[in-house]
Amino acid sequence: MRLDKLLANTGYGSRKDVKTLIKKKHVSVNGQLVRSSDLQVHPDYDRVLVDQEEVHYQDYIYIMLNKPSGFISATADGQTMTVVDLLTADYQRFKPFPVGRLDKDTQGLLLMTNDGELGHQLTSPKKAVEKVYYAQIDGHVTDDDVSQFRRGIELDDGYMTKPAVLEIIEAGDLSEVYITVTEGKFHQVKRMVEGLGKKVMFLERIRMGTLTLDNQLQPGEYRELTEAEELSLQ
Ligand code: URA
Repeated sequence: MRLDKLLANTGYGSRKDVKTLIKKKHVSVNGQLVRSSDLQVHPDYDRVLVDQEEVHYQDYIYIMLNKPSGFISATADGQTMTVVDLLTADYQRFKPFPVGRLDKDTQGLLLMTNDGELGHQLTSPKKAVEKVYYAQIDGHVTDDDVSQFRRGIELDDGYMTKPAVLEIIEAGDLSEVYITVTEGKFHQVKRMVEGLGKKVMFLERIRMGTLTLDNQLQPGEYRELTEAEELSLQ
């Protein structure tokens, strides 16, 4: 990986900060002072020092996946393909796990990381991170449905959800909507829509907190987060 990325990931500042550090000759690799930020280093084999202090690299990885339907949000399963199976071995070696769950038949934004602390922050009920979904619903979604979402919906087990936002894109026999929730109950969106007496036919997550699904990613495709995306999650 690039030297500036390694240092930025290890807490020596932003990419810009570490480029300055390198330029000002504070960094050495295998005993040689270096001046180029794009030098390729191997975290396991190269010895990197900043002002004579050894850098202990934390192997964190942050991947945005456009989850396709048909895969489960888990790290291992005897039978069904998991979202980890979609990653190449180069990424699997970091042991990433999905942050939060999408149902097998749900597609869209899934963050995969090995950063347990961040995973916890994003899924903690206390943080109430917003999740936004695009959904197709069998039946005509009405303004009354919008109001019911705003008040909260009673689920099949009696649980009353927090207020949520239902935004109608198009109402018809098959309605299109955006749904924003701040909780992560099992099958939450589908069960909330069932509470309206209707059924979700298609579900795609398009945003989680500050992270928006990159529309260049086709289902099954993924990429590492940009530095700005990574910082926005902290
Ligand atoms: N709500 C659901 O019902 N399913 C998902 O996959 C995500 C949210």
